[in-house]
Amino acid sequence: MKIKHADFITSAVRKNQYPETGHPEVAFVGRSNVGKSTIINAITNRRKLAKVSNTPGRTRLVNFFLINEAAMLVDLPGYGYAKISKTEKAAWGKIIEDYINSSPHLKRFVLLVDSRHKPTADDIAMMEYFRYFEKDVVVIGTKLDKLKRNDIRKSEKLIRETLELTDKDQLILYSSTSRENLQAVIDLVFHDILP
Ligand code: GDP
Repeated sequence: MKIKHADFITSAVRKNQYPETGHPEVAFVGRSNVGKSTIINAITNRRKLAKVSNTPGRTRLVNFFLINEAAMLVDLPGYGYAKISKTEKAAWGKIIEDYINSSPHLKRFVLLVDSRHKPTADDIAMMEYFRYFEKDVVVIGTKLDKLKRNDIRKSEKLIRETLELTDKDQLILYSSTSRENLQAVIDLVFHDILP
């Protein structure tokens, strides 16, 4: 599978601002700093595509990118800021819930976790939330280049156990720095979505 075109479509605050293209959607989510913007740029092969919409003060937005004129990559706001207030947390939850509830074309979530660490309580909560909505989830462990080769298996096991992944749930470790497993990530993320 090849990503030939990627275009930033829009950033939305409210659901009435979501673009209605009718294309299938894949939504990326993960804790802040996990490498979400970087992986979106790697997948789309555009150095600054995701950063464009990631300027400070615009982090509470849902960003839509059109891929190969056939699918939407949806960049959901990151979670897990150290000093987030209850109000902000609630606002974040509402954005995610609004998106899930009003996106009939949502096909899959891509949950990003840092492969160097045990998934956080927020990561676990996110996974449980997806299960509740019975959505297809692909888990990507980021920053694979930071792991020692010997620790890769251990990291996979820890992520699988902590998030209680089943054999059906796909997990892949990946690095934006070395681009290791980039093609496998693209194939997994857009499986059954792009030709
Ligand atoms: P976001 O907040 O999830 O969008 O995270 P960013 O994409 O902005 O990345 C956060 C930091 O992690 C930046 O300093 C990136 O350069 C770094 N980063 C992202 N991906 C990788 C990776 O695969 N390997 C390494 N070593 N660093 C990464």
